[in-house]
Amino acid sequence: MSGGDHRNLIPLKGGAVTGAAAKGVGGKVWLVGAGPGDPDLLTIKALRLLQSADVVVHDRLTPPALVGLARPDARLIDVGKRKSRHTLPQDDINQLLAALGREGLQVVRLKGGDPFVFGRGGEELAALREAGVEVEVVPGVTAALAAGVPLTHRGLAQAVTFVTGHAAVKDGETGEPDLDWLALSRPNHTLVVYMGVTTAATLADRLIAAGREASTPVLVVENASRADERRVLTRLAELPKAAAGLDGPALLVIGEVAALAEVEPIIASASQTPGSGAARRPA
Ligand code: SAH
Repeated sequence: MSGGDHRNLIPLKGGAVTGAAAKGVGGKVWLVGAGPGDPDLLTIKALRLLQSADVVVHDRLTPPALVGLARPDARLIDVGKRKSRHTLPQDDINQLLAALGREGLQVVRLKGGDPFVFGRGGEELAALREAGVEVEVVPGVTAALAAGVPLTHRGLAQAVTFVTGHAAVKDGETGEPDLDWLALSRPNHTLVVYMGVTTAATLADRLIAAGREASTPVLVVENASRADERRVLTRLAELPKAAAGLDGPALLVIGEVAALAEVEPIIASASQTPGSGAARRPA
């Protein structure tokens, strides 16, 4: 590569994608972090891969604006159509990726946020390695980093923990997230909950029971970094009301730092939901 060629200033480790022209060469799968939704938060590497891959495999969390960045003739495969409630089981996705790689294709597996933060990227990586398909992981901006508040802050939070609020559904009833409530209830500790909207009431109950102050500020961020981002600031005791009615992907940022969030009013009253408009982030 010539030093004067600006297109090559940031070489892609592992070789540039050469598209369908890579005939005779083995295929490769890139597990690419798509960031939280704003296309400007893609890494340069993710953008370059997206623009040149033969196939883009995406899911329901991937904003259309990102999929639209793919090569015009790229094959687009949606493995998580939400409307039809049809989502390919993870094993099938793993097999699909391996099959595409074996066909000699350059495949971008686009994953919301970062592939390794509650993204099942580890499973896809393991399956591809096992299948003998070349694979590379491209990190992305995880949703927590787009919450718009400092996750650590001198005097307010010396630690941050990312947890999943997901709980298995059994017989139509949502169970409980399997978390260490005592450890998570320590003050000056930020807790970012992914997939926690459905279990928000349980989360609040358990944390308060384990000793976290009921008045601990909580920021709820829906569709972080997207045009329809909505934010509401509430308190732990009122979290269930704030979480009710959320539709898009949302994060719960629990902890003293949440009070630093830019929302109006400073602390939402119990009657305000993220859809109330008054709680929107100032432009
Ligand atoms: N790998 C992703 C997380 C996948 S789990 C990442 O690193 O961000 C899916 C959960 O992520 C959603 O339920 C939600 O809690 C969170 N999430 C993803 N994108 C989001 C966004 N733009 N705004 C708020 N939360 C988001």
